Amino acid sequence: METTLSIAVQKSGRLSEKSLDLIRSCGIDFNADSRVLKARASGFPLDFLFVRDDDIPQYVSDGVADIGIVGRNEYDESGMDLEIVRDLRFASCRLSIAVPHGFRYEGLESLQGKRIATSYPRILSGILEKHGVEATVVVVSGSVEITVEVGIADAIADLVSTGTTLKMNGLEEAECIYRSSAVMVASRSMPAEKKAILSRLLERIDAVMLARHKKYILFNLPASKLEEAAAVIGGMKSPTVTPLMDEGWVSVQSAVDEDRFWAVFEELRKLGAEGILVMNIEKMTE
Ligand code: ATP
Ligand code: ZN
Repeated sequence: METTLSIAVQKSGRLSEKSLDLIRSCGIDFNADSRVLKARASGFPLDFLFVRDDDIPQYVSDGVADIGIVGRNEYDESGMDLEIVRDLRFASCRLSIAVPHGFRYEGLESLQGKRIATSYPRILSGILEKHGVEATVVVVSGSVEITVEVGIADAIADLVSTGTTLKMNGLEEAECIYRSSAVMVASRSMPAEKKAILSRLLERIDAVMLARHKKYILFNLPASKLEEAAAVIGGMKSPTVTPLMDEGWVSVQSAVDEDRFWAVFEELRKLGAEGILVMNIEKMTE
């Protein structure tokens, strides 16, 4: 029987479409209409397993699937020991502390002795511990943003991509404590034939990701926000920074991944970026 590599992908949710798009752009075809639980690719020895994202690290760890595409947050929260073979750079989000209006947040120390609700107790506890903050972590599996209003928590730690949900629930994003994007995880114990298939798949993924459109972005920014802006832009050695006549302001330029573009744009606006100029890049090398 032909050796195949099995991949676990999210059945339906924020990761599904982009995971499948990525594999399709690697020239691997499969029937997505009959997306029940399993599917076989044509033209490449790949089997799909469509599951809930929370289960992906466990399945790969147990050998139910050889590899998987999952949010880094779910992987870290699972506590499993897998190899992260690629950061796929989609489904970017951050785990942020959010507090109700009137809560004076001055860093993680403000959470000392408080109750913090989250669906990511392992990640949150790790961060609190690292900062020597003792707090009660209240574990909830969903609707974290209502826990303050209903009185079971004083603050929350939840995934954010735009912050609208927080605002709608009377909360303010106080601090980003962790960043995530989709990653490809692989079992640490895979037979050589499967490893060879994975190498072929990764070669294609790398080619696709390199060729993905980037945008060139230019904007003016208060110099004090430079570090935060560099973190938002991410993935670059460093943006190019030029001083402006107006002291306290700088002009920043950098390439930005197209699929992260709007998220970056909104973040930069929040940081006070002005005169944002966006250009297509015709050709580019690493
Ligand atoms: P499932 O039914 O598979 O358990 P889910 O509801 O747990 O799905 P989704 O909401 O589809 O999961 O999110 C999947 C992943 O998408 C998250 O674990 C995270 O890595 C990423 N993500 C990106 N932006 C956000 C966001 N704003 N809120 C939550 N997750 C996000
Ligand atoms: Zn889930």
